[in-house]
Amino acid sequence: MTVKHYNYFVIGAGSGGVRSARIAASYGAKVGVAEYSSLGGTCVNLGCVPKKLMAYAADYHEHFEDAKGYGWGTPDNVQFDWQKLISNKNNEISRLNGIYKNLLQGSGVEVINGYASFTDAYTLDIDGQKVTADKFLIAVGGTPRRPNVPGGDLMITSDEFFHWPDMPKRAVILGGGYIAVEFAHILNSLGAHVTLLYRGELFMRGFDEDIRIALAEEMKKQGIDLRFNCDINSVEKNGDRYSVHTTTGDILECDLPISAIGRDPNVKRLGLEAAGIKQSENGQIITSEYQTNIEHIYALGDVSNQNNLTPVAIQEGHVLADRLFGGHIDRKVNYNNIATAVFSSPPLSTVGLTEEDAIKKGYDITIYKSNFKPMKHTLSGRDERALMKIIVDKTNDKVLGLHMMGVDAPEIMQGFAVALNCGATKADFDQTMAMHPTSAEEFVTMRTAVK
Ligand code: NDP
Repeated sequence: MTVKHYNYFVIGAGSGGVRSARIAASYGAKVGVAEYSSLGGTCVNLGCVPKKLMAYAADYHEHFEDAKGYGWGTPDNVQFDWQKLISNKNNEISRLNGIYKNLLQGSGVEVINGYASFTDAYTLDIDGQKVTADKFLIAVGGTPRRPNVPGGDLMITSDEFFHWPDMPKRAVILGGGYIAVEFAHILNSLGAHVTLLYRGELFMRGFDEDIRIALAEEMKKQGIDLRFNCDINSVEKNGDRYSVHTTTGDILECDLPISAIGRDPNVKRLGLEAAGIKQSENGQIITSEYQTNIEHIYALGDVSNQNNLTPVAIQEGHVLADRLFGGHIDRKVNYNNIATAVFSSPPLSTVGLTEEDAIKKGYDITIYKSNFKPMKHTLSGRDERALMKIIVDKTNDKVLGLHMMGVDAPEIMQGFAVALNCGATKADFDQTMAMHPTSAEEFVTMRTAVK
């Protein structure tokens, strides 16, 4: 059997893997990529992209309602067609798959369709084909988890949700993280009755507490049944109906029970032991930035035990290729002030430290807060608030963190992340002219500290 040799072999054609492969090839390296599924990985096929398209679909419901206060009549025949949305979303994703294919082909990367496993630290078996390489990148992503309770495997996850054949009438969502609140928004706004179960006191752990409380209030106002300190004991299926038994003794009937309790790394059959690669207790590959314990093997994205966000994986893949093949050995990934967004309703966005983290880290802080009714809702009549918050280091006036719940929060926060990366102080914010009338201007007009 002929064994193909590469300078760089990437396992997994998701966001991070594709970027790294392309950049390495652009420097003249001989690069191969193994992928057993669609090009683009989770983000393109079963994550960020379909989620955002479905969130846009959901947002129309509010737009139609809000339009009345602005003089618009109610159109006679506003109906939502789930199958049409899924089909249009699928077409868009096929288009993106094609773009990924062209990007890889155009940069001279060889794509092998198949499942790769290490047989030793320099060799892969891809469905019977042997390849060797000088350096490897593992970027195989993760798979959504289901709860380990009787019937837990009956629950669907984000993987199936994006191809679900019919619009559900009643959904029960387990989890209190990104996917749970985003799916709750999508399904509630599209017309389903949604119950969200979270095992702790308050969902969105890791986000600023004021923002978490504010989002819970808004979701309740929209009719989402939020149940905290509530987990599930079991799930049963009778025909098309499911019964979800909760730890608080309720039986919730629904036609869509969704598990949104995090992801497991895709490490089964990867042959990590054969290559001597160390894993954490939950199976993730242990990395320092993107370096594994084996010098010529790297890992990033959801399979690693570091920051699991698409833009981080892309940046890491790019920098890694620059360093390995572009001669830019000093290039580093900037992990400071990574802004993040949750496409809930209203959306959340955040950059820098939360109030709780700043206190834990020993900062002496000043807090500025603005809680207001967005101008749009003066005429729409919608009972929705926005909340914005600034955390400032008292000792040097540096802005440590910004947090927002409100329309366009993600679009606003991306720009402010640049300011934080430049070390902006509260005085810099104060000296910045407001843009009126916007919500964003609150970040440069808050003058009175609340704490
Ligand atoms: P998250 O890690 O965000 O949230 C998991 C939630 O499930 C937490 O509330 C957690 O509770 C709870 N949970 C964990 N295990 C159990 C269990 N056994 N039983 C009951 N509840 C449990 O995961 P998601 O699935 O929401 O999202 C997966 C990843 O996808 C995210 O971490 C993020 O990286 C990415 N993502 C990013 C998005 C974005 O950037 N907008 C959007 C969607 C996903 P607790 O807090 O108590 O641990």
